[in-house]
Amino acid sequence: MAYINENYLNLNKNYLFAKISEEKQKYIKNNHEKKLIDLSIGDVTLPLTDSAIKGIHIASSNLSKKETFTGYPPSSGHDFLKKEIIKNDYLKRNISIDNNELFIGDSSKSDISNILDIFDKNLTVALQDPVYPVYVDSNIIRGNKIIYINDIKTFLPQKEHIDIIYLCFPNNPTGAIISKELLKKYVDYAIENDTIIFFDSAYEAFIQDKNTVHSIYEIENAKKVAVEFRSFSKTAGFTSIRLAYTIVPNAIMLHSKSNKNISLNSMFKRLKDTKYNGPSYISEYAIYNVYESDKLNELQKNINYYLRNTTLLAEFFKSKGMIDVSSINSPYVWIKCKDNINSWDFFYYMLNNFSIIGTPGIGFGANGEGHFRLTGFGTYEDTIEAINRMDKKL
Ligand code: PLP
Repeated sequence: MAYINENYLNLNKNYLFAKISEEKQKYIKNNHEKKLIDLSIGDVTLPLTDSAIKGIHIASSNLSKKETFTGYPPSSGHDFLKKEIIKNDYLKRNISIDNNELFIGDSSKSDISNILDIFDKNLTVALQDPVYPVYVDSNIIRGNKIIYINDIKTFLPQKEHIDIIYLCFPNNPTGAIISKELLKKYVDYAIENDTIIFFDSAYEAFIQDKNTVHSIYEIENAKKVAVEFRSFSKTAGFTSIRLAYTIVPNAIMLHSKSNKNISLNSMFKRLKDTKYNGPSYISEYAIYNVYESDKLNELQKNINYYLRNTTLLAEFFKSKGMIDVSSINSPYVWIKCKDNINSWDFFYYMLNNFSIIGTPGIGFGANGEGHFRLTGFGTYEDTIEAINRMDKKL
């Protein structure tokens, strides 16, 4: 008989978004006449940009001809795209990334979870709370010890050794950014304490504030300790066609029990070569054409659309005293529930009074209790209508 990894039994059975979807379907079934506005979604709604679609057409035409047909890509992606990513996302910010430090793949979610395969079991990891649930679940599956960061400003230093610190900025779910000064403290701590930082910047493209970083490598010496995850899901609206990349600097060293130093980069390459066959050529070509034809402004136009929705929501909740934000740097609005009610009660309050769906903060961790997440990924019209509905009673 085959035995399971018992850690799977420790996962939370009620997957947050499954429960929200169930409640949504129930509501729709019982309230045919009311238009439901779903602002819980963490998914893009605008179509792909013209240059991305053109890239897909070029790629499919290339695949249709013998002379330009291509099969399996290299496991870390094609050089034609690597060159553009390094030039546009890093060199323009005076960061140099070697070709072999960049791994293009289908998804940040899978890279963030699967990179743990390289590490010893029973690590101690530090996660922000509230937190993107994937970090929690992937560490539970491996049986790692999780320490929660309640306040990012006061968390360091710790008595206990931390193997990996996960930082997500701009943050999902809160939308918070981190100052350069504070991030430097984390990098310095990681260097001094033999800790690795996993820096998830899935929402980098939404940054408006100048006093934060687009890449952790803007911080001196970060290449010694930090892995950076970036996704085209929200940046380019690629949630359907999938594409992401991970930077694993050559300088990061891990230890083996026989006291050897082994580079994380070489281990990650081994992992990719073993478990993946590289990203889809069509997805790669789609974003390549955006970079190559200098059409990043088309992506920015879509991001600005979501940012406008997010700003409208944020300003509304600020006027109600339920939020205190000075700038918007993500598609998320993180509010305090009315009258200090708990976040599931507030979910039903919003649903039953305004036919609006959001995400209960408790789903992102204990510190999310009493909070609620709404997103700017809806349409502009729905966002305005949602505000008008709430304005009457909230
Ligand atoms: N990281 C964060 C913080 C996210 O919110 C998401 C998606 O919601 C991802 C990663 C997933 O990225 P991908 O779509 O590339 O798997």
